[in-house]
Amino acid sequence: MPYQGGKRLSGERASKLGHLDVVNSDLVNELIAQFEDQEPTQVETPASWVEIPDDGIPLRLIFAVDGSKQTIRSDLPPYKELSFIKTALLRLDQHAIAKLDPVSPHPMALRDIMSDSAMYHATVLPLKGVSVKGKNNYDAVRGIIFDSMRDQSLNAEPYETLKWLAYEKWSGQKKPSPSFSCPHCQEEVVGLPFDQDEGTCGHCGGHLYLTDMIGFHLEMSEDAAPDSVATSYMLIHETLMLFTGIRIFWDVGKYSVLRNSLFIKDGPLSLNGQYSKLTIPIRNFFEFAKARDISVHVVGQEKTGGFVDHLELISRNAPRNSVFAPSNEYIRKEIQHRPERSEPYGSRTNYGNKVFVKFDAYHHLVLSIPTGGYTDSYSLDVFFGLKNILASLPPILSHRHECALVPVELANGVASLSSYPSAAIFKVFADI
Ligand SMILES: [Zn+2]
Repeated sequence: MPYQGGKRLSGERASKLGHLDVVNSDLVNELIAQFEDQEPTQVETPASWVEIPDDGIPLRLIFAVDGSKQTIRSDLPPYKELSFIKTALLRLDQHAIAKLDPVSPHPMALRDIMSDSAMYHATVLPLKGVSVKGKNNYDAVRGIIFDSMRDQSLNAEPYETLKWLAYEKWSGQKKPSPSFSCPHCQEEVVGLPFDQDEGTCGHCGGHLYLTDMIGFHLEMSEDAAPDSVATSYMLIHETLMLFTGIRIFWDVGKYSVLRNSLFIKDGPLSLNGQYSKLTIPIRNFFEFAKARDISVHVVGQEKTGGFVDHLELISRNAPRNSVFAPSNEYIRKEIQHRPERSEPYGSRTNYGNKVFVKFDAYHHLVLSIPTGGYTDSYSLDVFFGLKNILASLPPILSHRHECALVPVELANGVASLSSYPSAAIFKVFADI
């Protein structure tokens, strides 16, 4: 997802209503003027900002993931709809970033970084009116998702990561996958046996893919899939790309590399609705790593939404170089305005808690950082690797876009290019 234009760094923001010059009503013009000149609201909040700890150590290696999606519809009947999805993982080190001109990075320097250190995945999902090998749309999409996850240009590594998460392979126990709803009869399947790719429903005998466990079929009908399936695929795949980096280092015992790496995800660390099946295994992984004193630094950065809007308001009064972790109570009252008895924020869906950070007048970020199991504590101590994560961010703050991080901008560049030379996955990890 691209960074949105800011107010100070990326030049004049285009007038949202400027194109409505056909409007001649004085009243309408006055309303438009009020809308555009609106003074920032002063918001009093109980936000308790504290200074960013100064003993964090910047992490040497940085990985960033991002994705893009484009849905194409035919103009004439029979209407067809296809969605193209791309995700990218990019590796950078602080040394390479230090060499980039922060204001105007040279395109060739960026190209070199990308060609050596980026890997990407691209696929296409038929959403409507496309028949594949005589299957209905529903089964075609299920099959394509299963095949796409095992993308051979990436040596099926993101799929191996799905299995690693679904079966909690780090634990050394032979656990079954999480339970899920059968795509044929909708009965609950207790989970596929350990390490299986495919299986059979015990209720109806229907064929099952491990990727059915993720739950895409729950938002599809027999003839069509909504655009949101493509968005969900992109989000799940971004998550798998991110954890592929972690898994590869973990599996070969390169814990010192992990301790020195920062994994940045575009967007919050959360999986919503039926897609939250993987949230618990991911939380379990962070707990497992913590119990072995292996720091895994993961951070999500949100660029839109209620938290970003809220930080926009409260960061004005926040001191420079400060951090604030909102409690569930704060989120409920000040940001979401939800009733008191509602479920704790993100307890089922998030694998990181929110952290607001203000570095300077141009850079304030909504981050999420893992805490292991769900906690409502907003002490900075609950966040895994918080000090080192925060120490790693100032050198990668963008000077081109407000509130932006260079690695995410670059990953976005890879993910949004229509074609890009493929790079073997292991190249990204091999020379470390
Ligand atoms: Zn069934």
